[in-house]
Amino acid sequence: MENKEKQVWDLIIIGGGPAGITAGIFAGRQKLKTLLITKEFGGQINWKAVNIENYPGLPEISGKELISKFVEHLKKYPVKILLEEAIKVKKEDGFFKVLTEKNNFLFSKAVILALGARPRTLEIKGEKEFLGKGVSYCPICDGYFFKEKQVAIIGGGNAGFESALFLSQIAKKIFILDFSETPKADKELQEKVMSSQKIKFIGGVKIKEIQGKRLVEDIIYEEVKTNKEFILPVSGVFIHAGTVPQTYLVEGLVDFNERKEIKVNPETLETKTLGLFAAGDCTEGKFKQIVIASGQGAKAALYAFEYLKK
Ligand SMILES: Cc1cc2nc3c(=O)[nH]c(=O)nc-3n(C[C@H](O)[C@H](O)[C@H](O)COP(=O)(O)OP(=O)(O)OC[C@H]3O[C@@H](n4cnc5c(N)ncnc54)[C@H](O)[C@@H]3O)c2cc1C
Repeated sequence: MENKEKQVWDLIIIGGGPAGITAGIFAGRQKLKTLLITKEFGGQINWKAVNIENYPGLPEISGKELISKFVEHLKKYPVKILLEEAIKVKKEDGFFKVLTEKNNFLFSKAVILALGARPRTLEIKGEKEFLGKGVSYCPICDGYFFKEKQVAIIGGGNAGFESALFLSQIAKKIFILDFSETPKADKELQEKVMSSQKIKFIGGVKIKEIQGKRLVEDIIYEEVKTNKEFILPVSGVFIHAGTVPQTYLVEGLVDFNERKEIKVNPETLETKTLGLFAAGDCTEGKFKQIVIASGQGAKAALYAFEYLKK
């Protein structure tokens, strides 16, 4: 779109999760000429299986509702939105050049990366083959296909336990499997899950394979202590093995830690490239939460504003 006009934006924000949307609101309020590029709005909140209970001022709200409030707020400001994937960011002659999947080149004086993260895959046999045929990373999207069926959740952290609670309203029986002997989810969540007759935790196991003919029929797992293999008949497998940052498009412009998260100045959220900021789950902060990502988005926009004033 902007190719023909060779328009230069003050700020391009990449990402439409809590970090990117908040950055957009703050940039809009500073009257920066801002473009927000995102594949979709909501990011990881779209995978949220139960209500959000830790966003200040909104003690209990669904992910869908929270995101629609975020987007509604963003749209109060004249921030241009482009629903596309950005595939490369470069810096040339003092300006940033962002290439999108549809071959648009967009130019700006500053960029905020709010790229978030996507689900980590297990890299086991059957995972790719049965994706959409029983394997899913999103219970809220696919849970209803498993009404009165037996399902497995891989991963005993908060996300896995929340999914189990959500699926307990739909599925007949839910098994949570994890490499650790004991669950890693918050204690309060564990208590809720363990009080359900439908949910069983199986710890100290390694998933070897997902099997079936046309659709998933079972998983093979190994007990770590004994190396004994077991077959668990299930129709659905929900994978919650953590997340990986989506930082491929800025190779060379930023430094990464060992988890491929972007290194930033913790105060200003600047990367090693002048005018390039990063916020939210794509950065190296230890805690990944909506309020933290939003706070970083706000800070990055305000520091980008200061940078642009200079
Ligand atoms: C199942 C689950 C439950 C959770 N529950 C809670 C909870 O109860 N409370 C809480 O505080 N936190 C929770 N979290 C964590 C919270 O969702 C994240 O910390 C937060 O969403 C991070 O926001 P973000 O904007 O940094 O990234 P994301 O939410 O990951 O958003 C990133 C956005 O960037 C877009 N994007 C990425 N790359 C590109 C690209 N190249 N081009 C264009 N667009 C791109 C994506 O499409 C997405 O819209 C949960 C996470 C999960 C997975």
